[in-house]
Amino acid sequence: MSSDIADNLARVKARVADAAMRSGRSADAAQLLVVSKTWPAERLADVVAAGHLAFGENRVQEGEEKIPQLPGHLQWHLIGHLQRNKTRKALPLFQTIHSIDSLKLARYTSNVAGELGLIPQIYLQVDLAAEESKNGYDPDQIRSDLDDLLALENVSILGLMCIPPMAASPEDARPWFVKLRELRDELEHRAGQLLPGLSMGMSGDFEVAIEEGSTIVRVGSAIFGSRSSHF
Ligand SMILES: *Cc1c(COP(=O)(O)O)cnc(C)c1O
Repeated sequence: MSSDIADNLARVKARVADAAMRSGRSADAAQLLVVSKTWPAERLADVVAAGHLAFGENRVQEGEEKIPQLPGHLQWHLIGHLQRNKTRKALPLFQTIHSIDSLKLARYTSNVAGELGLIPQIYLQVDLAAEESKNGYDPDQIRSDLDDLLALENVSILGLMCIPPMAASPEDARPWFVKLRELRDELEHRAGQLLPGLSMGMSGDFEVAIEEGSTIVRVGSAIFGSRSSHF
């Protein structure tokens, strides 16, 4: 069992590096975030044993249970929606938050981080498809909030994140990845500062995302297997 996970991890890492080099970037241009939601700490231990450090969880409560069971030097990223009332619990656990989707939440996160003496790294989660059911920041709203976002003192804005609409093939996701990159380029130009991070790409489409400039891919089932299979 554990060697399966180690094999999967090695295979995904090789694919991440190949996709980066294929698109003229360095082999380490895109970081791999191993998405461990729903899997117990013992399963993650196999990935840690293989030398991997960065994990993504989508629920604060699951992080509260799991993170203390694993070595303290790991890096934890919150990739799911952050509820305001969970912020104070989330910040000491997660160094990076991929799901900031309003100025109000960004400001609150910065204020709480200031009280706790922390400076979390954040991505702005963009709702590119304007889907009512999805969480995410409207691109026009980001444009108008940009100065206020960049003025927040206790968050470090790395860039943008997206979850494209469900697609039948990886190629169907490509236009969304292009849109996210173009929005990032535009915001950098407006702000006169770099927003280098693009959190995009999951098990089904991470190679396409890397070809379009992803700097961090969030991969779960390609490493652990299907989440539905262990229920
Ligand atoms: C679950 C999840 C992933 C990983 O999905 P896989 O298809 O299992 O790789 C990535 N990003 C977010 C936001 C998720 O919730």
